[in-house]
Amino acid sequence: MARKILIIEDEQHIVDILKFNLKKEGYETLEAYDGATGLELALTGEPNLILLDVMLPQMDGYEVCRKIREEHSQVPIIMLTAREEELDKVLGLELGADDYMTKPFSIRELTARVKANLRRVTAQQEPDPGQKGQPANIIQSGDLMINAERYEAVKNGKVIDITLREFELLKFLATQPDKIFSREKLLENVWGYEYYGDVRTVDVTVRRLREKIEDDPSVPKYIITKRGIGYYFNKIEG
Ligand code: CA
Repeated sequence: MARKILIIEDEQHIVDILKFNLKKEGYETLEAYDGATGLELALTGEPNLILLDVMLPQMDGYEVCRKIREEHSQVPIIMLTAREEELDKVLGLELGADDYMTKPFSIRELTARVKANLRRVTAQQEPDPGQKGQPANIIQSGDLMINAERYEAVKNGKVIDITLREFELLKFLATQPDKIFSREKLLENVWGYEYYGDVRTVDVTVRRLREKIEDDPSVPKYIITKRGIGYYFNKIEG
């Protein structure tokens, strides 16, 4: 079945280019030219991925992204920003988007990112055949429990509201405790880019994750920063 990509963008020529190239790659597309229609299609059109422009009439992309996540939809969202300053704002607002691209972007890079984001979701939805019938894959550390089969993180007995990307990052670090990963390495492994991405994405995701799993995000005990190198997961016994 063809994957469906929702394009929320008010510039007709960009929509046309995206539509043409995505169809060529075998995707179906849905288009919305303002934020309100985009939000509605995001929630009712069952897209597999969303390309979301920031500056939109009626409701801007920040708001659309926030509202999609408020509805607990975990559909991958790639934000399209016009300038570096917009990207900084997108990263600073921590909206729950999975990826970001600054215009003008190359179609080749965009389709590579679409593929990488879809691949990640598919990998999560398809059960690992080797795991069938095995007990649930659970990592316990202090008051935190990570259930890799149910894509759940539980703190003090309560399920944390976590995005797929945050979960993937947490699981990746927690399955190899004490091992320090550079941000580039995390980008490659968790985000799945075969090319250079923006390492700030890793920092933002770590920050969001800490707010959810740490007692005091400014003094983290699970995800630790190794200054100048990267991050590692600290496993707390008992
Ligand atoms: Ca725009």
